[in-house]
Amino acid sequence: MRALSSLFHTRPIRLALLAFVVGLPTNLVGALLPGSISTAHGAEGRYSGKQGQVLVVKVPADDESITAQGTFLGRSIRFFLDPRREEPKGFVGLLGIDLQDEPGTHDLIVELRQGEQSRTLNYSVSVLKEKFQIEHLTLPKDKVDLDEKTLARWKTEQEQVKTALASDSQTRLWQPGFVEPVNGKRTGIFGSVRIMNGQPRNPHNGEDIGAPLGTPVAATNDGVVKLTVDHFFSGKGIFLDHGLGFYSMYFHLSEVLVKDGEVVKAGQIVGKVGASGRATGPHLHWGVKLNGARVNPYALLDLPFKGSVQSATQAPVSITEPASGMGSPSP
Ligand SMILES: [Zn+2]
Repeated sequence: MRALSSLFHTRPIRLALLAFVVGLPTNLVGALLPGSISTAHGAEGRYSGKQGQVLVVKVPADDESITAQGTFLGRSIRFFLDPRREEPKGFVGLLGIDLQDEPGTHDLIVELRQGEQSRTLNYSVSVLKEKFQIEHLTLPKDKVDLDEKTLARWKTEQEQVKTALASDSQTRLWQPGFVEPVNGKRTGIFGSVRIMNGQPRNPHNGEDIGAPLGTPVAATNDGVVKLTVDHFFSGKGIFLDHGLGFYSMYFHLSEVLVKDGEVVKAGQIVGKVGASGRATGPHLHWGVKLNGARVNPYALLDLPFKGSVQSATQAPVSITEPASGMGSPSP
């Protein structure tokens, strides 16, 4: 109870990386009463970030028996104890702004619980519109206009992914220090609006990194292999579960070197670059989902959780034409 009371003297929240705090939190006043206490809209402060970015929300608390859980645009944000020794004690939530979240101001509600008591903190989050590029792609007709059989296959594959990702690890598996899976040329930009054979399609929900066939692909962080696939669009792919609703994806591989359920370490080689699925050349499609939000995977490398892990595997110098990346897991 003492710990929860200490939240009445909330210090200014940590600035979120890739985001701007445009207002400072007010100090909370009043006595801790049994039951739930709510604060006014935006009373704890304001965050702002562009579509596809990641906000780091810090809630100071000195008692580990408190649990914290956030809700943003209907998505659940799981908070965890701040792993950084140099930072004040507290909980951190990674709030992913989906590439298609509606621009405007939305509430982030964080509920703190300790035994029978709870307290609701209210942050205001401004989602800013990102100017995504428009990409025109030309692909074989049967990769864009799906016949009935392929459409049925795609739907089954989508279900398989949805089911697998519905149950994630309930603890944080990742450690400070994220790894770029392949160090190569970014050939397909996150969020770009895709026009395939003249038809508008879903935006690109990851980054494409062009690299020669067979280039090793490293896991961005510690986790568990949730699912390995060989799907129509994503080709040979890996879904890594990093815990608390955080997944990273690696698609169009030529080889998958891990098995479902296998524990992997940051930097571990999990596969090799290929052009399987819908792709016109060898590249890695790297994607990240945070509590259901599709975010730019490169935002991970900028997070204020740095470690001593070695960075990306260096792609060997290509002697062939640069890969033209593409390939989205959805049409
Ligand atoms: Zn891609």
